[in-house]
Amino acid sequence: MRLYNTLTRSEEEFAPSQDNIVRMYTCGLTVYARGHIGNFRTFVATDVLRRALRHQAGCEVRQVMNFTDVDDRTILESQKAGVPLREYTGRYIDAFRRDAAALGLEPVEENPRATDDENITAMGRTIAALEERGHTYRSDGSIYFKISTLPDYGKLARLDHAGMKSGARIDSDRYEKEDARDFVLWKATKPGEPTWDPGIGAGRPGWHIECSAMALRLLGEPPIDIHAGGVDLIFPHHENEIAQSEGATGRPFSRFWVHVEHLMIEDEGKAAEKMSKSLGNVYNLQDVVDRGFRPSALRYLYLGVHYRKQLRFSWTAMAQAEEALKRLTDFLARLDTVPGRAANPVVAERLAEATRGFAGHIDDDLNTAAALGVIFDLVRALNSTIDAGEMGTDDARAVRETFERFDKVLGVLALRRGEDERPPVPVEEIEHLIAARRAARLARNFAEADRIRQDLDTRGILLEDTGSTTRWKRK
Ligand code: AMP
Ligand code: ZN
Repeated sequence: MRLYNTLTRSEEEFAPSQDNIVRMYTCGLTVYARGHIGNFRTFVATDVLRRALRHQAGCEVRQVMNFTDVDDRTILESQKAGVPLREYTGRYIDAFRRDAAALGLEPVEENPRATDDENITAMGRTIAALEERGHTYRSDGSIYFKISTLPDYGKLARLDHAGMKSGARIDSDRYEKEDARDFVLWKATKPGEPTWDPGIGAGRPGWHIECSAMALRLLGEPPIDIHAGGVDLIFPHHENEIAQSEGATGRPFSRFWVHVEHLMIEDEGKAAEKMSKSLGNVYNLQDVVDRGFRPSALRYLYLGVHYRKQLRFSWTAMAQAEEALKRLTDFLARLDTVPGRAANPVVAERLAEATRGFAGHIDDDLNTAAALGVIFDLVRALNSTIDAGEMGTDDARAVRETFERFDKVLGVLALRRGEDERPPVPVEEIEHLIAARRAARLARNFAEADRIRQDLDTRGILLEDTGSTTRWKRK
């Protein structure tokens, strides 16, 4: 499989370095808010990478995706809410897990939280190693990474060394390229902030050290095989992760760096801008569902654009994604109608050709957009075969099996099937509402009873009253 490596700015042939096991780290969500559909573009893209490595390249994958549950933003928001940090971030971790499942993300092997004891200990170890190797200095109770001690600092983001201010420091977790400075590893304790002391003095971690420490702790001897995230992480986050990990171990950190382009949003009359919480232009999965779309349609939308191109999100694009996905599921349903008949060798040929085409596009730096193009060409051709009465049940089975193989990588058809099998409203909620409606009727509050029936109706659930019992069914 060829993968674009940000480190070398070129597509390279990828294979894991040891035992056919891909050791991969993905920067996870900063859990100060529910993840938005921009975040999930990156997570779905890395899920497709994981699936392609497992189901197409035949590798085993050991993947770590962390939760950043302590940093400037999580602390600030938990303080605003007046909720202890770990409890506050726990809510968004739960929401992430639900959204991830709804979008068909394969569970990864490890989901560490930065504030887990063993991770804080690992951060202390990494920082101590950096101190020992002369890469740090202390100031006002904080510990900084001295970038001038690492001659190749800036190699990932290709920084211009002339612009770097040696000796100047930066404390915030997120900053711009122009501010390439000595960055903070461990922040001095501040009143009202959580604090730990893993043997290096009391304080709390900077964002960057968290990922270095978790990756080194959970993925074995560096270099790991792949490190991934959105393009906004190239600088400073990934640059600093490299500095910390390579400074502490004296070994290269990751062989491949994979970066996913942004999901952009167009506001009326304005140029498209990056979807981001700080710009206040975000939608989350619930917003998408509230507009009447299913998570599978969003996943399909993501797949329709190569991961290294910006994706322009709009509700029109969502509607088109839904329509395209429906064309695929309609085709699969049509296969059930073909009559029994001897197998047609032309169908087998078509399937073999499409299988080659699909695999070729996925191998070409995960070109899911082109891979979907192959599937649609196949659907067109096979619809004509069915029209001509030239497809039999054995052919139909082979077609279904081929689509199942494609879907191991894409993860969208099985997701839609799962949605079809589940009612659009959780059963407990339906039962609760039926009870509330019965109570409203007994109280002769017919307006309320009607409102409940109407509400369920618009959400795809029909109520049928027979005598004193009420049954529900999907519309
Ligand atoms: P954060 O929670 O900010 O640490 O981001 C979690 C992941 O989402 C990171 O890999 C980011 O690069 C990625 N991300 C953030 N905004 C977007 C966006 N608009 N489009 C795609 N990926 C994004
Ligand atoms: Zn990270």
